[in-house]
Amino acid sequence: MNPHSKTVRDAGQDPYGVGANSWLNRDREVLGPAIRRDDPVGWPLSGTRRPRGECVTALTYEEAQERSRLLDVRGYRVELDVTGGGEEFGSVTVVRFGCRAPGAGSFIELSPARLRRVVLNGQEAAPLRRDAAELLAVTRACFDRYREIFAEPYPYDSYDQAFVPELESGAVENPGCVTFRDDFLFPSAVTRTERQLRAMVIAHEMAHMWFGDLVTMRWWNDVWLSESFATYMGFQVLTEATGFTGAWTDFALARKTRGYDADQRASAHPVAPEPRDVPDTDAARSSYDDISYAKGASALRQLVAWLGWPAFLAGINDYFARYRFGCATLADLLDCLSRAAGADVGEWAGSWLRSSGVDTLTVSRPEPPGRVGCVSHEGGRPHRVWIGVYDEGPGELALRARVPVLVPADAGAVVLPAVAVRPEPALLLPNDGDFSYGKIRLDAASRAALTASLGRLADPLSRAVAWNSVRDLVRDGELAPRQYIALAARHLPAETDGSIAGHVLGYARWTVADRYLRPGLRDAALADITSVCRDLLGPQLARDGDEMRLVAVRGLIDSASGPDDISALWSWLGTGRVPGGPDVDSRLRWQILLRLTVLGAASRAEIEHDADRDATAAGRLSAARCRAALPDDAAKRAAWAAMLSGTLSGYELTATAQGFWQPEQAGLLAGYVPRYFAALAEAAEGAADLARALCVHGFPHHAADTATVRAGEQCLESGALADQVEDLRRAAAVRSGF
Ligand SMILES: [Zn+2]
Repeated sequence: MNPHSKTVRDAGQDPYGVGANSWLNRDREVLGPAIRRDDPVGWPLSGTRRPRGECVTALTYEEAQERSRLLDVRGYRVELDVTGGGEEFGSVTVVRFGCRAPGAGSFIELSPARLRRVVLNGQEAAPLRRDAAELLAVTRACFDRYREIFAEPYPYDSYDQAFVPELESGAVENPGCVTFRDDFLFPSAVTRTERQLRAMVIAHEMAHMWFGDLVTMRWWNDVWLSESFATYMGFQVLTEATGFTGAWTDFALARKTRGYDADQRASAHPVAPEPRDVPDTDAARSSYDDISYAKGASALRQLVAWLGWPAFLAGINDYFARYRFGCATLADLLDCLSRAAGADVGEWAGSWLRSSGVDTLTVSRPEPPGRVGCVSHEGGRPHRVWIGVYDEGPGELALRARVPVLVPADAGAVVLPAVAVRPEPALLLPNDGDFSYGKIRLDAASRAALTASLGRLADPLSRAVAWNSVRDLVRDGELAPRQYIALAARHLPAETDGSIAGHVLGYARWTVADRYLRPGLRDAALADITSVCRDLLGPQLARDGDEMRLVAVRGLIDSASGPDDISALWSWLGTGRVPGGPDVDSRLRWQILLRLTVLGAASRAEIEHDADRDATAAGRLSAARCRAALPDDAAKRAAWAAMLSGTLSGYELTATAQGFWQPEQAGLLAGYVPRYFAALAEAAEGAADLARALCVHGFPHHAADTATVRAGEQCLESGALADQVEDLRRAAAVRSGF
């Protein structure tokens, strides 16, 4: 018997349900069932194995109901057998423990009580023990917090967390046993933001024990009942119960931005679509997107701002009590919330959950100065927001007040109270604190204040809101992309929050420089980015030095271009350390080697030398990425053939494609752009999974010009490709506008 089999404690009800979600590993083996006798949500049964490349059978709602009629579920086991195909995973992060069942040992178990023996490639693995201490501390803290706020006790008899190689999704909430992608056991140095992300995933998956497993959506249109809630609770509980108190800042920069992007594409859908809009389980797969997670969680954060935390909590506790070990719908939840709040939340839900798109809130201060200020509103949702009112102060933009403003759904403009306009403030920042979801636009004076002083806002979350507003302006073609780089150069050197520095540098590098700037301006932008990174590596301000140094070193490596940069990278590789730190560990080593390869400064021999020294799974992927990045015809031909072979795992395909497309090598790659669309069209005929993977992981984003847009449009504008082409069209428009 597999040691991770788990029997769910009998809920004392008949019929009873057991959990909502299962997911597939790379071989499309189902890792866990989602069967509910009264109303199954329709994943195939545990243990089903399908040939690679074959799509999972789509069940319609009716078929799923029929399956439930035929099934008699009396128990439930989570079966994890990630080496079921006889394949050995060589990842350094794979940890084995004793197991009598063949092929069931390539993951570790962390139980709340103790950590089992941790072995790494045959040897005791001390670094993972260090990770385990933090993992268990976060797990305990979140567990205690959920037990405090939820009236319904934890529903299962134990709680395990298993780290699984090559898990397709980041983590899966099997009842009583969460599986995580083993990348979360960090073999190299990571930033605090990355540790915070892992902690958030722990909190998120734990929330699913209630949202999703204890109470399950009736049908896949209500994915948000699981994912939006788990996302919201994950960030909120992390903030309340652990040392990661800045989690909402990271949510704003890393998650919400993706929600905004998705919500402005043609494929946008409501957070909670109607059942008819999710006709079968194939359609359900695409519901696990940035709308369900990021926008849904943002909507819940706004809902809590409306109802208050006590009423919100009373509503969801009522929901658990009524639907425990059963299924529920949007209407069921709204009934519970309305009862708890003493008010009908149906209208709120109609505008927030049943419609797509992003509202815009704009502040204005009419002439003459000091008269009335307004918040005007484009869109159809009501917003409860706080307007940050800031004055110029010594060393910072000083917060005068956060003024609460209620913007009704149909309001054209709402007048600001006197405290917001007299005396005239330097900055009016809509949605300060980030409790609502929408784009913001500033009046001219506030815009000037942010340009001069964005980095002097004391609260990191306010800075995140401000950076997102600048990002929106660039995306919408209202601000020259080079201005984003200029703002980063002006404000990042004094940044104290590693999450903000990392995200702004990342956006400047991968989106602004690679996609939005005209190619002729890119070199100067990369030089500016490396200069910012050098500033961050300079004398330490009041900030976590190690954290910021790692962010800066990574940023510098990715943008390194000139001869001085190249010689610095070689010297770091040679000495194994960046002067002043950090040490060059395996991840940094591969990152440096990739950049040198892209620039034509490292050869195949150097890649193979490092590949020989690093036989880990991460090392193999890094080597594949580097080989694909070699700037010569033979390397590109080999990488291209590998990408189209249909034999690479999702991880391998992603790594190869990441190496393959390089803006520095646009000339060498020009012929591959039209070939990409031809290959995609061909794959779509017979290998849908390959086509999807090529689309998601292998798209030539750097080629933002009208010819590529046209080629994309002529290919097949559906599903993931439609989103990519739409993004490309936007990038080409921004590029040609400045
Ligand atoms: Zn989830």
